Amino acid sequence: MPNLGIKYGLTVRRKYLAAWKKLKKKRACPKCGSKTFARSNNGIWECGKCGYRVTGDAYEP
Ligand SMILES: [Zn+2]
Repeated sequence: MPNLGIKYGLTVRRKYLAAWKKLKKKRACPKCGSKTFARSNNGIWECGKCGYRVTGDAYEP
């Protein structure tokens, strides 16, 4: 069985890193301004303070 992890690992890792950096950026909740606004599931951003939820694409609210 060929090891696909070695062949495609770098490209995937680069894409993942770029997405990860975006996710790590602090975002303010559009409703209450709290910095606890974070992506909880794919496409769902949720505020930890007021519970405001927004569905966007995978990386941007
Ligand atoms: Zn909020």
